[in-house]
Amino acid sequence: MANCAECKSFFPIPESEDDFEQGKGDCIREEKDPKGKFWLSKPVMSDMPADNCKYFTKKLAN
Ligand code: SF4
Repeated sequence: MANCAECKSFFPIPESEDDFEQGKGDCIREEKDPKGKFWLSKPVMSDMPADNCKYFTKKLAN
């Protein structure tokens, strides 16, 4: 079962940040509409299931 941590849109919060929490991250995705491109960001946890997320895209291995 995939989770947010395996998604290319998942960005962990760095330990140096005030809102750092183990496993916490931001889901950051580029969207497009007739006026142009923009970014959407929302807080997620690394262990949240991604199976029902239509935006899930597996992160490439580092
Ligand atoms: S919410 Fe969806 S798009 Fe965002 S990180 Fe999780 S699986 Fe990826």
